[in-house]
Amino acid sequence: MQTEQPPLEATSPFELRVNLGAHVPESDVRTALASGDMGFLHSFTTGSTVDGPGVRVVAWTAGCMWRCRYCHNPDTWTMSNGIPVAVTKAVEELRKYRQGLKVMAGGLTVSGGEPLMQHRFVEKLFAAAHGMGIHTALDTNGYLGDRLTDAALEHVSMVLLDLKTFDAERHRSLTGMDNAPTHSFARRLAARRVPIWVRYVLVPGLTDDPEDVAKTAAFAGELGNVERVDVLPFHQMGQYKWKKLGLEYTLENTPSPSNELVEQTCALFRSAGLKAY
Ligand code: SF4
Repeated sequence: MQTEQPPLEATSPFELRVNLGAHVPESDVRTALASGDMGFLHSFTTGSTVDGPGVRVVAWTAGCMWRCRYCHNPDTWTMSNGIPVAVTKAVEELRKYRQGLKVMAGGLTVSGGEPLMQHRFVEKLFAAAHGMGIHTALDTNGYLGDRLTDAALEHVSMVLLDLKTFDAERHRSLTGMDNAPTHSFARRLAARRVPIWVRYVLVPGLTDDPEDVAKTAAFAGELGNVERVDVLPFHQMGQYKWKKLGLEYTLENTPSPSNELVEQTCALFRSAGLKAY
């Protein structure tokens, strides 16, 4: 039996959402992914000032193939936890904010989960947003960047690129995945002059090794299209989700980084010629 769904608009992405698309038959999910006519969204929030320039509408997609040990939204890992939304409905919703977004120099950000798990939906949404003159930002781990054609990239105004750690082995142990595809997507964006804002989650004991941070900073600095780096201090706000979902959480005793550590990390990015906050 289908349970009543919460509204698509959420007060924050920290709301736990599960099984909202579980009633959608597998064949319909496959068709939706192939056509991009329907997407699976965890939620939709408005008024964000931390997900790209200006004030933004953010569509949080469901589905991610990474398993970052510090992920604060593990309920977005599974696509069937998302609410099925027709792209036409998402565009209609976005249209309501068109004037406001322009006045506030903002735009649409698609985040997740990992948006490129549903790249055709994202492409359609971004093309429609651009058609309305709305700035678009893609918040991604970059692993599936190859899925976007050059034509699709024309509708991506900028990318918020999550860089997790530089050393390949450490990256695999932190996320379960390889970071080479992320680096190759970053280079492709650089070649096409698509602006990047790097997001770097700073976790004491996991991503704070100065040598490793310096390598990430050097890589980002050499790209030439990184406009800023946001060093995001690890926090425990997602811990309750891991517990509720019955997942093994390994960072129970990991503190948030001190202001001093955040500043030291920012300084490493600045040494590579980048603006870091
Ligand atoms: S890439 Fe993002 S959504 Fe996916 S597991 Fe990592 S932190 Fe979570």
